[in-house]
Amino acid sequence: MLRINELKLPLDHPEHALRDAIVGRLGIDGADLIDFTVFKRSYDARKRSAIVLIYALDVEVRGEAAVLARLARDQYVVPAPDTGYKFVEAGPGAFDAARPVVVGMGPCGLFVALILAQMGLKPIVLERGKEVRERTVDTFGFWRKRKLDTESNVQFGEGGAGTFSDGKLYSQIKDPKHYGRKVLSEFVKSGAPEEILYVSKPHIGTFRLVKMVEQMRAEILALGGEIRFKTRVDDVLVEGEGTSNRQVVGVKLASGEVLATRHLVMAIGHSARDTFQVLYDRGVYVEAKPFSIGFRVEHPQSLIDTCRFGPNAGNKILGAADYKIVHHASNGRSVYSFCMCPGGTVVAASSEEGRVVTNGMSQYSRNERNANSAIVVGITPSDYPGHPLAGVAFQRELESRAFILGGGNYDAPGQLMGDFVKGRPSTAFGSVTPSFKPAVHLTDLAPALPDYATLALREAFVAFDKQIRGYYKEDAVLTGVETRTSSPIRIKRHDDSLQSLNTRGLYPAGEGAGYAGGIMSAAVDGIRVAEAVALSMADSAIPL
Ligand code: FAD
Repeated sequence: MLRINELKLPLDHPEHALRDAIVGRLGIDGADLIDFTVFKRSYDARKRSAIVLIYALDVEVRGEAAVLARLARDQYVVPAPDTGYKFVEAGPGAFDAARPVVVGMGPCGLFVALILAQMGLKPIVLERGKEVRERTVDTFGFWRKRKLDTESNVQFGEGGAGTFSDGKLYSQIKDPKHYGRKVLSEFVKSGAPEEILYVSKPHIGTFRLVKMVEQMRAEILALGGEIRFKTRVDDVLVEGEGTSNRQVVGVKLASGEVLATRHLVMAIGHSARDTFQVLYDRGVYVEAKPFSIGFRVEHPQSLIDTCRFGPNAGNKILGAADYKIVHHASNGRSVYSFCMCPGGTVVAASSEEGRVVTNGMSQYSRNERNANSAIVVGITPSDYPGHPLAGVAFQRELESRAFILGGGNYDAPGQLMGDFVKGRPSTAFGSVTPSFKPAVHLTDLAPALPDYATLALREAFVAFDKQIRGYYKEDAVLTGVETRTSSPIRIKRHDDSLQSLNTRGLYPAGEGAGYAGGIMSAAVDGIRVAEAVALSMADSAIPL
């Protein structure tokens, strides 16, 4: 199999053009082209009236060696790399008494459990929230009736934080072992559309994610894994002292039950603030890390489509347009778009009473009226100094302020972009109807954030208009607050064993531990951690 990279064709090319282009590119007879598949498809929309599709293709030809030799100087025609996943050696001695425990069933925990199960290591998964269908009822209940279940919501429950999301599956992590391919393949096996394997910015959308999560659960169970829902870990049991002798020996559940294990993966996400405290109290090494704060912004999707794609707006292959923008403000702060959701809705993402936090989601079709994106300002521990968990307190403070500004009933505080920039409260919506449920309460958003963030955002909204014409739109709607852009802490681990810096047998994993940001990177981290657990279990196994 050989790979052709960077093969460019016009957006509206006919189907046969791909075959013709391959034959032409390789300089072969049409009869010698046996088969081909699209490995990746992206587009270049810099010239909006002449958008180009860019393909990477895996091609089977007669006389492959001769073709490769003839094109040896062509950097875009190469042998196709092997992107298949290979399990690490797990060793024959691993047995039930040493069952690994995985806390959290978001994308990270799901992949830890799936890979361990596929290696025959029968993990036990503990998830504080409910099964995904029950959780969906609770989450939609909160959006409609303002009734928050603090253990079953957008953040907590089967599937983790990304379940009610846009399901964007791209990431900028380095992935030399092609783990991302394994993640996408497992998603397709569980019901995701095949195209996620080849489009450059794959997304799944909320409803399909729910079904996929159920499929993956079924596979883990079929392979001998065990999954317990409504099972919160309230304590981590550690034996020994000092940095080299501490060893995890088990967990204590909210029910009081104690579960013994020497291989404990903590894939708890960025919202498990109570569990962060437990880890800190038990002496596990934790440090503060940077994250970002800001608002969600809603524009008409048609404005973004026209700006990005010009006359090609609405083209089926291109879909709803996304954007990525950055501005370096004069006060030294970076302002950037985050988790942009084309054709989606802004959602209430609270997991604690008396606090409001926003996020975004969409369906696979991405055909809602508004484009939404978080626009956030980068902050660092120097903005919340003093304690490893000070970032958590800072987030809580901003979310509590947002609750009050929203009217104290889980409505989100909102403001029109023009009013925010000009520093006056909003009193009526314009042409953009916000999508947030239960509702948006118009107010002045300036008190929601520290002054430095407000100043940087005001400057950025105007500056963004140079990058996306029309972005500074007087009646675009801002809702607040975005605080859970990533974890406020890092639970540091060794680079090789992936175990906690000072607690053996504890594997901090995924976004909550500060080692991922997004569904794909959390899932890839899950694979890495599963391999580390398997290798450690094989090392410590007693031969049968
Ligand atoms: P999580 O998904 O947060 O999972 C952690 C799990 O641990 C939770 O299910 C929680 O209930 C459980 N848990 C926590 N504490 C305990 C405990 N003590 N005992 C037992 N269980 C516990 N990312 C993207 O890449 N693309 C997107 O389109 C996207 N959209 C998003 C939309 C929304 C609304 C949200 C909230 C997030 C979105 N994200 C998106 C971010 C993405 O969801 C996260 O990066 C990802 O889910 C992190 O995975 P994780 O497994 O590390 O943690």
